[in-house]
Amino acid sequence: MKFNKIVLVLCFAGILLSCKSYLDSTKSTTLLDITAETDEDKFVNLKNYSNDFIYDMKYATADNFLKEKVYPCDECFLRVKTVKSLLAANKNFIEKGFKIKLYDCYRPRAIQRKMWKIVPDANYVANPRRGSIHNKGGAVDITLIDSLGIELDMGTKFDFFGEEASHNYLNLNDTIIQNRKFLKEIMLQNNFSSFDSEWWHYNLNGSKADKVENLKWKCN
Ligand SMILES: [Zn+2]
Repeated sequence: MKFNKIVLVLCFAGILLSCKSYLDSTKSTTLLDITAETDEDKFVNLKNYSNDFIYDMKYATADNFLKEKVYPCDECFLRVKTVKSLLAANKNFIEKGFKIKLYDCYRPRAIQRKMWKIVPDANYVANPRRGSIHNKGGAVDITLIDSLGIELDMGTKFDFFGEEASHNYLNLNDTIIQNRKFLKEIMLQNNFSSFDSEWWHYNLNGSKADKVENLKWKCN
């Protein structure tokens, strides 16, 4: 926090030619209360507000369609309002014996550019000039795990590029359709919208109007 303020002051004074601010990935020793956060647009680390999520941040490893690690480490930053809705959704899932597993959260514009450089195809990666809701801190890529920690069968892997990943593709067995429906219903009840071609992607309602940000994080 202090560091960011100092950077802002220096930027304001025009002392630096280029101003860079970083998100603080230092973890709090105790869980923080998201309801105490009044700035809804601020970026925070989900890990500071709950121990009830499972993290499988695909872009912090080479286990993704780019076959490259593009995030420095597996942090999950989101805007406060996104975290509030996601915590509420996870609470609903937990009450039913499930938990959210995260594949992707906020993505800085610089990393979007990096991904675009590897795969410059708008069918697979959002053009960094416009950015995506991930660049705005309002999107999450998720699935569900059961009480034994086993992922629910959603029919395809995360980032599977094909019609089978679509909510509209119904040539799947009943279990898969029910699992997708279960995920979608609770997310929609908690102020998120689904994305037709990707069963794993959810946008916080209204987040399209937010700014694309380029706040990177340093790893501890
Ligand atoms: Zn996504």
